Amino acid sequence: MLDRVLSPRRARQFQRLIRNGKLTLLCLLLTVIVLRGNLGAGKFGTPEKDLDDIRETFSYIRRRSEPRRVLEEAETVQKSSSSSDSTENGSNNYAEFDIRKILKDEDDGVEEFKRDPSQPYSLGPKISDWDQQRGGWLKNNPNFPNFIAPNKPRVLLVTGSSPKPCENPVGDHYLLKSIKNKIDYCRLHGLEIFYNMALLDAEMAGFWAKLPLIRKLLLSHPEVEFLWWMDSDAMFTDMVFEVPWERYKDHNFVMHGWNEMVYDQKNWIGLNTGSFLLRNCQWSLDILDTWAPMGPKGRIREEAGKLLTRELKDRPVFEADDQSAMVYILATQKDKWGDKVYLENAYYLHGYWGILVDRYEEMIENYHPGLGDHRWPLVTHFVGCKPCGKFGDYPVERCLKQMDRAFNMGDNQILQMYGFTHKTIASRRVKRTRNETSNPLEVQDEHGLLHPSFKAVKVSSS
Ligand code: UDP
Ligand code: MN
Repeated sequence: MLDRVLSPRRARQFQRLIRNGKLTLLCLLLTVIVLRGNLGAGKFGTPEKDLDDIRETFSYIRRRSEPRRVLEEAETVQKSSSSSDSTENGSNNYAEFDIRKILKDEDDGVEEFKRDPSQPYSLGPKISDWDQQRGGWLKNNPNFPNFIAPNKPRVLLVTGSSPKPCENPVGDHYLLKSIKNKIDYCRLHGLEIFYNMALLDAEMAGFWAKLPLIRKLLLSHPEVEFLWWMDSDAMFTDMVFEVPWERYKDHNFVMHGWNEMVYDQKNWIGLNTGSFLLRNCQWSLDILDTWAPMGPKGRIREEAGKLLTRELKDRPVFEADDQSAMVYILATQKDKWGDKVYLENAYYLHGYWGILVDRYEEMIENYHPGLGDHRWPLVTHFVGCKPCGKFGDYPVERCLKQMDRAFNMGDNQILQMYGFTHKTIASRRVKRTRNETSNPLEVQDEHGLLHPSFKAVKVSSS
């Protein structure tokens, strides 16, 4: 038929073309079958699914080749950093590395902000209407109430330490134990917690560093009703005791102390500023402003120290400290501040370690956590131990041993929830206090800390 339409030569060419095309089609068909067998979704795969599977397969092949790529990159980075920065050595040995090399770089050439010495020190711009400002904010932000339950204020526990590592090799380990201890208490009691390591104001270094920090936090968190400052060398020894918030409803500043010792004797240890509660209000901003002027490091702090030693009972000669300054303010301006300050001694909001640690065994023998007072102190504060410094006021061995014991006192109350306890209050090691059970929800912990009522939250059903 083709012969009739085309010339014989053209017809032969056309037939060859058809034969070749058949072969090409056959090859194409075979290729598709093989590809579907290896990469496709099989008999039931849709074309989209096939495509996804193919994509997945190729990305897997890419991923598999990645480790090698990363290795090569790491090598390049190492090579280039060691060649470009001659001061970094390539050793992987932490034990041999001298940390001072890194710290020194930071200290060199840091320029401190110098204040005009003719101007008195101030914590910040004067604020006189904080109660109105805060009240308005609370009204506009009902999702951030300053009371999280009746008689349960929203509390922010604030603590901190220097931006640098401790001046002795174990200091940071004790800071870690101390913050772990505070995290546990805060979690159980529904408090918020903030750890500060930044020196916000170079002039207010050391024990004065808390003042600028506290003011900043009060102003930034109007939702917080009480700020609880706690030194890094203080630990909770009673995890069960809940602060009697109701007792302080008419007060703004709660410290451990005694009225007679502060107001009558002007004794520099009549109160302690290592653990205190401060309400978020104008009154508190005012007392911070009154408190701060003795703080600036250098001549001001030195001169103020002389005044405090002269005016206060039993105070040794040293630069002005925040605690002596507070005793001095209250003793000399009682009318101005006295009625809003609560000096608490019915329980240990701060407890001096020297009179507590040797009685721990006796407490364990006779009493139980939850009392907070001399029978089982809420807080044990290692005043003068300076665990992060080079020198303290007490033998290092006693300080560190007793800090371990205080930590374990508190930690035992945490571990009991999970059926463990420290082998002794001097031991890091733990032992089981009960057998494992296949009905874990039936286990009751001794102090009811797994689900304490002071942590319960009421969820609305809507
Ligand atoms: N502190 C700080 N940053 C510093 C140094 C100290 O936040 O750079 C805090 C730290 O929490 C410490 C507290 O200030 O516990 C007061 O110092 P310390 O406890 O050594 O005084 P002490 O209680 O022995 O009088
Ligand atoms: Mn302290």
